Amino acid sequence: MKIGLDFDGVVSDCGQLKSDGAKKMYGLDIPPEKFKTEIVIGEGLLTLEQYKNLQKEIYGTRRLGLLMHPVEGIKEYSEKLRSDGDELKIITSRGKLESEIAMEWMKINGLNINLVGIGGGISKADACRGLDVYIDDDLDKLEPLVGIVPNLFLFSWGYNLYIRPEKIAKRINSWRHFYEEILKLSVT
Ligand SMILES: [Mg+2]
Repeated sequence: MKIGLDFDGVVSDCGQLKSDGAKKMYGLDIPPEKFKTEIVIGEGLLTLEQYKNLQKEIYGTRRLGLLMHPVEGIKEYSEKLRSDGDELKIITSRGKLESEIAMEWMKINGLNINLVGIGGGISKADACRGLDVYIDDDLDKLEPLVGIVPNLFLFSWGYNLYIRPEKIAKRINSWRHFYEEILKLSVT
């Protein structure tokens, strides 16, 4: 099966990093699960400008960018999928510089997955054509893939728990859960 993965929030866990970054840059204690634009801005925890600057530091500098943690289970289950014969590809909204940091980070963390960075504000629809599966932590990124990728999954985090994905995607709680869902698809 051809499986597409989002990067931030599926392969790497930026929540903790953003929380640490907010502490360092602004002296604020904001828990990782608050780091979704509509929450962190909507609740007035950061201004839009502060959040943009934080994102720039996290995604666009090697100093902070390489400190991300892998999402639990990514290494084990991505290797399992590959040995089952599935093809994995990361399709991310990161731009060129941010994608280079992501690739360097994967190397350091022993992950060997092809990555395509399409840049921010662009629909993933074209890049995802031909995939059997796509998983993202952002429902807005999955919506344009309806009718293009037959099996869509939303990776669960505290910051997206309030969203109801049922009409678009199936909610996934962990990499183990995702692997089990892929196995189910493979036998049907
Ligand atoms: Mg994401």
